[in-house]
Amino acid sequence: MASRISRTLVAMLATAGATLGVTLANPSPASAAMTICYNTSQAPSYASIANQAATIWNNATSNLTLTANCGTNLRIYQITGGGSYAVRTSLGNGRVYIDTQQAAQYSPLRIMTHEIGHILGLPDNYNGNCAILMSGGSAGTSCTNPYPSSAEASRVTSLFAGTRSTERGTDSGSTVFQDSWPAALAPVS
Ligand SMILES: [Zn+2]
Repeated sequence: MASRISRTLVAMLATAGATLGVTLANPSPASAAMTICYNTSQAPSYASIANQAATIWNNATSNLTLTANCGTNLRIYQITGGGSYAVRTSLGNGRVYIDTQQAAQYSPLRIMTHEIGHILGLPDNYNGNCAILMSGGSAGTSCTNPYPSSAEASRVTSLFAGTRSTERGTDSGSTVFQDSWPAALAPVS
């Protein structure tokens, strides 16, 4: 009798120990999505476009969430002339510049999602294919597709795997994506 109780007790302790061991061996919780706070105070004409672009990226990807005006991971500016471009300071951090002249010829939403794509880690891919977001202006002014392809979305999801909401970038090692979308032509009267 005493022997059976003893064996049972040993088994229980072993189970408890195993459970504790597993807990200690895996201390890190599943990583939460990185929150990318974007700010449109310097791009008042494109605030709603930025919101639409954020929704597109949020729906297409995992591991990151673009949220308006909760901070300044991503500042969005509007400029006149010179072409739209993006400066990525680190993954999920940087600045996007929307050229109002360019946005009068090309789809502003496609430009916005494309430039944010640079901040999310994607390079240009000027192959003329409208189904590819990072083909940018190479697909012509008639291309208004603002959605990343499944491959582009998957790439961003994998780049953000393991990032956490506390991650913040620095200004060292900035990468500038000066978009070579064709320069804006003289306005047609
Ligand atoms: Zn680009």
